[in-house]
Amino acid sequence: MTLYKAPLDDLRFALHEVLGAEQTLTSLQHGDGHTRDLLDAVLEEAAKLSEQVLAPINASGDEEGCHYDKATATVTTPKGFKEAYRQFADGGWTGLTMSEALGGQALPGVLGTATTEVFQSGNLAWSLYPMLSEGLCHAVEVHGTEAQVERFVKPIVEGRWTGTMCLTEPQAGSDLGLLKTRAEPQADGSYRLTGTKIFISAGEHDLAENIVHLVLARLPDAPVGSRGISLFLVPKFKIKADGTPGERNAVAAGAIEHKMGIRGSATCVMNFDGAEGWLVGQPNKGLAGMFTMMNAARLGVGVQGLALAERALQNSLNYARERLQSRALSGPKFPDKPADNLLVQPDVRRMLLTQRAFVESCRVLLLYTALQTDVEARATDPAVRQRASELVAFLIPIAKGLVTELAQESTKEALQIYGGHGYIAENGVEQFVRDARIITLYEGTTGIQAADLLGRKILQLQGTGLKHFLEEVGAFCKQHAQDESLRSLVGPLAFSAKAWGELTMKLVQRVQGNPEELGAAAVDYLYYSGYITLAYMWARSVAAADASNHPAAFKQAKRDTAAFYFARILPRTLVHQAAIEAGVDTLPAVA
Ligand SMILES: Cc1cc2nc3c(=O)[nH]c(=O)nc-3n(C[C@H](O)[C@H](O)[C@H](O)COP(=O)(O)OP(=O)(O)OC[C@H]3O[C@@H](n4cnc5c(N)ncnc54)[C@H](O)[C@@H]3O)c2cc1C
Repeated sequence: MTLYKAPLDDLRFALHEVLGAEQTLTSLQHGDGHTRDLLDAVLEEAAKLSEQVLAPINASGDEEGCHYDKATATVTTPKGFKEAYRQFADGGWTGLTMSEALGGQALPGVLGTATTEVFQSGNLAWSLYPMLSEGLCHAVEVHGTEAQVERFVKPIVEGRWTGTMCLTEPQAGSDLGLLKTRAEPQADGSYRLTGTKIFISAGEHDLAENIVHLVLARLPDAPVGSRGISLFLVPKFKIKADGTPGERNAVAAGAIEHKMGIRGSATCVMNFDGAEGWLVGQPNKGLAGMFTMMNAARLGVGVQGLALAERALQNSLNYARERLQSRALSGPKFPDKPADNLLVQPDVRRMLLTQRAFVESCRVLLLYTALQTDVEARATDPAVRQRASELVAFLIPIAKGLVTELAQESTKEALQIYGGHGYIAENGVEQFVRDARIITLYEGTTGIQAADLLGRKILQLQGTGLKHFLEEVGAFCKQHAQDESLRSLVGPLAFSAKAWGELTMKLVQRVQGNPEELGAAAVDYLYYSGYITLAYMWARSVAAADASNHPAAFKQAKRDTAAFYFARILPRTLVHQAAIEAGVDTLPAVA
């Protein structure tokens, strides 16, 4: 079995020393009790559940996968998943960040993000079951009625039921405007839904007594495209007057997918054959409704990348310490042993430091973004809320797009450190590579995140989020300009931030001249922006470590990893800049 120990020290460092979470949270509305002690206590409980319950069924869940029974159209999840879900629900985790109106504990989003990392590291496939439920609850809270909250959402928050997000259809993936599922109004105010959804995570399973589907569908008179999509709630079992599950609704899993990774997660084809459903929000405004939930879902998938990269790092580091192979280039370091360990090889250290440089800065980025969602939701000053909202909107495509891509590199490097042993299933690290592959695809592919960043957040919204972010980076650089110990980071960071602003201006002009330039530059712009964003997170981390009471070794490790990042990773921006400047002419028609 692969190792997993929740990185509580680094989580606490990011939350408290780097981000000053307590100070921000306790200044927000209803934030009195959101102290460091509370955050730390919750994290410790999450660590226990993940290490003791979720992590041990990660490999076995992958090996066993889900079972589909055609006769009953039911899915059995791998051994231990159901019991783990019960423990999770009994522990109150299903309502951790849900509002009190939903019956939740209304704890901060940043704490939810930190605990989610810990659960997802333990078992990514399992963690998809509660994750999809969360999106549904928030969507109905914002767009639904009180009666819908009472009927459909509260049992999910209590952990008795779960939820899904049913968007994708065979002909409608990135482009949801193409979806065809129909919803016919009925005399009693309900709707009958007919159509097929594919790739629905947790569409059918045995963890809970009912499943509520949040479904995008079209009303009979709906305009074509994305302006004609409405949102519906469709329960697996119709709900009786007393709120308990009644007769079976006409929605069922037609199959489950056999897939590369996250095999313990049931990915279902869902057939709606005149299923009873209920409209959420306004007719034809469903996509907009769903998009308000997108930030949380995309942040959650970014966290999946971090979670996998963290576990892969822990295991590859441990392997590199123990594996004896070859001698150091400068002569034996362990002369009494048959060979030195892998850590003496600079190239192995390069792979480990790459992983560490990504993991620790991505953690700060994701928690930083999550903290801004708390500010957006609860700050008393509307101007502060507005700024946070613009920052979040800007950072989400980076938090999702970049972190999930870096998780590919991280898990690949982890496997590489194992040599051929990494390719062998028994050693477990190949599962991380397979599990990671989905995260750049669902909740919007990397191409879609990049188009969102450049097309919407920079062009349409006139780069307001970027401006806030660059101002913050500028203020940090100014504050530390005379700080001798930070000079090697602050100089390059200030230079990169300035270059980022200039490149963005030039790119905007080019795109205004030819819209095709947007698609040609977008993914490189996402990486370019992301690497500078992480450089800022590294500089802040070193400043925070220096100012802390952590042991000298901790401070030195932060400093060394930051130096590695600035010397060997940040220069990747130059390659992306060159690709951006090469423009669309270098992407000729492909026959
Ligand atoms: C395991 C798994 C679980 C999933 N869970 C769910 C779920 O719970 N609910 C749900 O509704 N869906 C779910 N999905 C579906 C997932 O969200 C879609 O697969 C994803 O949105 C991509 O759609 P697609 O597969 O149709 O690819 P396409 O949209 O056909 O895209 C193919 C390629 O073209 C690129 N592309 C397309 N359009 C553009 C554009 N405008 N700009 C730039 N590039 C573009 C894409 O980036 C991609 O590389 C899941 C999928 C999988 C595999």
